[in-house]
Amino acid sequence: MRIEIDTLPPEGLRISRDFDFQGSDLVEEEAVFLQPAHVEVTIRKIGEEISVKGRLSTRLSMPCSRCLTLFEYPVDSLFDLIFLPEELGDIKEELSNEDMDRSYFIDRTLDLEAVVLEQLNLTFPAKPLCSKDCQGICPVCGQIRRESGCGCSVREDDPRWIKIKNFIKD
Ligand SMILES: [Zn+2]
Ligand SMILES: [Zn+2]
Repeated sequence: MRIEIDTLPPEGLRISRDFDFQGSDLVEEEAVFLQPAHVEVTIRKIGEEISVKGRLSTRLSMPCSRCLTLFEYPVDSLFDLIFLPEELGDIKEELSNEDMDRSYFIDRTLDLEAVVLEQLNLTFPAKPLCSKDCQGICPVCGQIRRESGCGCSVREDDPRWIKIKNFIKD
């Protein structure tokens, strides 16, 4: 969805819509959308700058990085971004240290779909977990520890256990 910068009304443009992204569009490639990504956004021209402010919500299903169980990952995030015309890219170096949130639009258009997709990707943790204390998979019997409560005894100095502990620490 391309927004023509020069046709924005002075009071700004309010958009409320769903985007049908695919899991393969995401950095978290195994994620599956349980509902479309919904966006409420106001796009406003302030001098040469474009303010893009809104809310992104959706629900996804993705595998836990420790136990591989699929879990539901809800997204409800606010964003408040500033875009500058590409011509100002020359002073990018100066700005980049001061304000990381500045981006650029090209050819007087803003690709809202790309902006939303980037915001969505930024919400994902590096290692998604079904719960923050997920115990992962039992090194003895291979079952998911949380579900099986398998009761295998693992000696603290067991190399298999140390391996798992280090894995969880990551
Ligand atoms: Zn897990
Ligand atoms: Zn076990």
